[in-house]
Amino acid sequence: MSIATSPAPASSESAYGGLELLIDGQWHGTEGRQSRPVINPSTGREIGRLPVATTEDLDAAVAAATRAFPVWRGTAPEHRANILHRAAALLRERVEEIARPMTLEEGKPIRESRGEVLFTAGIMDFLAGEAMQTSGKVVPGAVPGGATLVLSEPVGPVAAFSPWNYPLTVPTRKIAAALAAGCTMVIKPAEEAPTSGLAVARALVDAGLPAGVLNVVFGDPAHISERLITSPQIRMVSFTGSTGVGKHIASLAAAGAKPCMLELGGHAPVLVFDDVDVDAVVAQLVGSKFHNNGQSCGSPCRFYVQDAIYDRFVERFAELTSRIRVGDPMEESTQLGPLISDRRIRAMEHLIQDAVEHGARIVAGGEAVPGDGYWWQPTALADVPEDAVIMNEEPFGPVAAISRFSTEEEVVERANRLPYGLGSYLFTSSLPRALRLPALIEAGMVSVNACNLGGVDTFFGGVKESGYGSEGGPEAVAAFLRPKLVTYAA
Ligand code: NAD
Repeated sequence: MSIATSPAPASSESAYGGLELLIDGQWHGTEGRQSRPVINPSTGREIGRLPVATTEDLDAAVAAATRAFPVWRGTAPEHRANILHRAAALLRERVEEIARPMTLEEGKPIRESRGEVLFTAGIMDFLAGEAMQTSGKVVPGAVPGGATLVLSEPVGPVAAFSPWNYPLTVPTRKIAAALAAGCTMVIKPAEEAPTSGLAVARALVDAGLPAGVLNVVFGDPAHISERLITSPQIRMVSFTGSTGVGKHIASLAAAGAKPCMLELGGHAPVLVFDDVDVDAVVAQLVGSKFHNNGQSCGSPCRFYVQDAIYDRFVERFAELTSRIRVGDPMEESTQLGPLISDRRIRAMEHLIQDAVEHGARIVAGGEAVPGDGYWWQPTALADVPEDAVIMNEEPFGPVAAISRFSTEEEVVERANRLPYGLGSYLFTSSLPRALRLPALIEAGMVSVNACNLGGVDTFFGGVKESGYGSEGGPEAVAAFLRPKLVTYAA
């Protein structure tokens, strides 16, 4: 494993900037407002100051979204689709100018950041197309000569909250789906990685989005969520982030009887049966586990491997994990950068120490990387018992926990043991098993013989405490629509 402890070159930070709020079509900087630092996790150094929205700013954003709603919902779906398509094209044109600050503030390797921009542009194009699919239906009437219609109407102004780990994809999924449906929005992207949420807003403004349709604010998350969600003008809430915060957000929404979309944490089980090609499966899983440093809600976490292939699986997993290139995320060859914050480093320390105390073996990595910034070695643990904390709490970091199993019945029970139910992975060469198990696994998404939780055009969401609703596919737009019954007498 090659490890960089040196800070990212200062030159790459010099172009960082443009941290603003967008309210009613106007950009606002730090003048007259408090500000908070944005940190480069590679170095631990401040790279910019983010304006903190005042209560007046938040109220102005809600008022703008409320004024813009009747105008935006009244536009032709084709017009909304055209703006979204133009914005998607701008994201593609601006791939480098969006990817570089994304890497600086989140630590994602630059190649992954570019991939996120292009993937997100695809999502925006798909959701643009869905703007044209929001029609209602005519129901055969019971009264001869009468008519019964079910209209499909946008819910209204939406408050949305998105996390730092996919700082462009997640806000774009929310924004594009809501706008396609005819809703307006006030969004608070993550303060840790603000430039991507601003980049999608800039692309939409440059594509011709009218003032007030999209408003972007930052600041104190608890204050902002409370102020926005309790505002009577806000008609729906969309949140992606941790389960704990999500439950709090849902309780605020419930107090106002507002619909809520929650995409929360996961603890994806990986079921590997002894009829697979071990080397091929491990190669896929190592790539997926350490993508975005394990800081993904769908990241494979608990690796349940059947007895007969267990030792070979552990050996190969450790070998490939140790070969991962850790370093400056701005370098093209880097595979793993820093974690987002010091808090995540302390979480890794705790999880690994606890697992070892419960009898687990460290077979790769296992330690922080000394130096500035927030670095942790890619780590694999073997023989991890079910009562270790890492088998129960989302690691959200570069640690794989491997454990052996004997029977299908046993592993399904263990996979379903937790309150989480987002992603899950199944590897087997048995067709009957590949057909049987997805129905038995309690998860919103099951990936069979691949690490693939969907594309630009598919549903994305969970069950149990991983949330409800969809961040992707046609379902994402449907979430921002509500039916209205209209009956006509004969
Ligand atoms: P955290 O829960 O403290 O923060 C996660 C994000 O939520 C931050 O961006 C923060 O600004 C935001 N947030 C916090 N309080 C909020 C509030 N009251 N209203 C609105 N937003 C609020 O967690 P962390 O330590 O920074 O990250 C690790 C944990 O976060 C993991 O356990 C993981 O489950 C969760 N997480 C999940 C996702 C996801 O994609 N599902 C993304 C990021 C973080």
